Amino acid sequence: MRIIGLTGGIASGKSTVASLLRQYGAIIEDADQIYKELVTPVDEHVPSPLCKAINRRFNGVLTPKGELNRAKLGKIVFANAEHLRALGEITHPAVAARFRARCEQHQQNGHNLLFYDVPLFFERGLQTKITEVVVVWVPEDVQILRLMARDRIIAKDARSRIGSQLSLDDKRQRATWVIDNSGERDRLTAQVAALWDELANSAK
Ligand code: ADP
Repeated sequence: MRIIGLTGGIASGKSTVASLLRQYGAIIEDADQIYKELVTPVDEHVPSPLCKAINRRFNGVLTPKGELNRAKLGKIVFANAEHLRALGEITHPAVAARFRARCEQHQQNGHNLLFYDVPLFFERGLQTKITEVVVVWVPEDVQILRLMARDRIIAKDARSRIGSQLSLDDKRQRATWVIDNSGERDRLTAQVAALWDELANSAK
């Protein structure tokens, strides 16, 4: 199975690229989506095994419905780098295991090419496991404007959210393919179509 990472920076256009690729028929797994599934209660008021594990480490972070109290957990882990690392040590292996199971299913269904959409691909060191990666890049001034428009926030907040991630210029250096999303949407579409042509043909 050929697995290709798909990443970018906040508001660089990664989700837009993922939906274009899906339209072309690409198989895409999404790390955030897998995480959401893993923290969904297994039954009414019954937390998932992952939520239970998180709650064992950070007491009192479940709601009465068995869901994660994200605000409470966020307060704990974003105030302390050690806690954030500990949370990652619980969640990342769970997401990785579910991802591997999905890959096996896709392979059994005859697919041999799959994209893995991971917003913090490099920040999580995934390049050591997945060696091919598409980076959706924009210059920072465009990134700020698109983030402000999408999330209705002011420039200062947009800069601070962007500043918490590795810079897109840095990610670009490590990419196998760069999709330059600084232009109009049709320029983006053309690049995604060309990438899909290249990859789908090489998978035949
Ligand atoms: P990400 O998934 O990387 O956070 P999105 O795909 O949500 O980014 O794109 C960020 C915002 O920019 C969205 O509102 C999207 O509709 C818009 N957008 C994406 N590409 C373009 C483009 N080429 N021109 C104008 N707006 C765009």
